Amino acid sequence: MKISTHQYAPKACPSCGSGEIAIRTSHKRTISELGNIITELFVELHVATFECENCRNKYTPQHPDYPKGYEYSRSIIQTALSLHFQDNVSGNRIAAQLAKYFSVQMLPKTIYSWINALTEDFMKSEFKAEPEKALEVYKALMIDGTGFSLGNKLLGKKNDVQLSSAVKLSDGIYLLTWWE
Ligand SMILES: [Zn+2]
Repeated sequence: MKISTHQYAPKACPSCGSGEIAIRTSHKRTISELGNIITELFVELHVATFECENCRNKYTPQHPDYPKGYEYSRSIIQTALSLHFQDNVSGNRIAAQLAKYFSVQMLPKTIYSWINALTEDFMKSEFKAEPEKALEVYKALMIDGTGFSLGNKLLGKKNDVQLSSAVKLSDGIYLLTWWE
């Protein structure tokens, strides 16, 4: 499947609104997409840097379904994170299931890196109505009764937890909240 720049790039300069824009450089990205049980699917995405003839602004439009820096589509990433957080499936089993049912080839370590890097974003999208809850989810309660915040892969300072509550969201996933 091929996607040209013109299918997703804005038709006018995002800075001044002029329609007089020209492609300066371009390249192709090959990205894995969810296939099916027998067919492996790849997307050939054309990425171009435009320059505005009017204000000289240079910009590189990003396709919303194919995040920059990832060799896999947003659908694959979201499927993997949903299997992990909603169904409590391990990275190794997610890699096996993606290969079996969607013909997506990947290493389990790629999924673990997504879990590390994208947990916060995923939690925020899961708790759109109550974004502050996402931050509460993103804390860890230790067996010794202390807790800490998990920033983006960073462990925060440990504090004593006086009172906490746990709400079961799905098998293996609990929403923990506490006050410090
Ligand atoms: Zn412009």
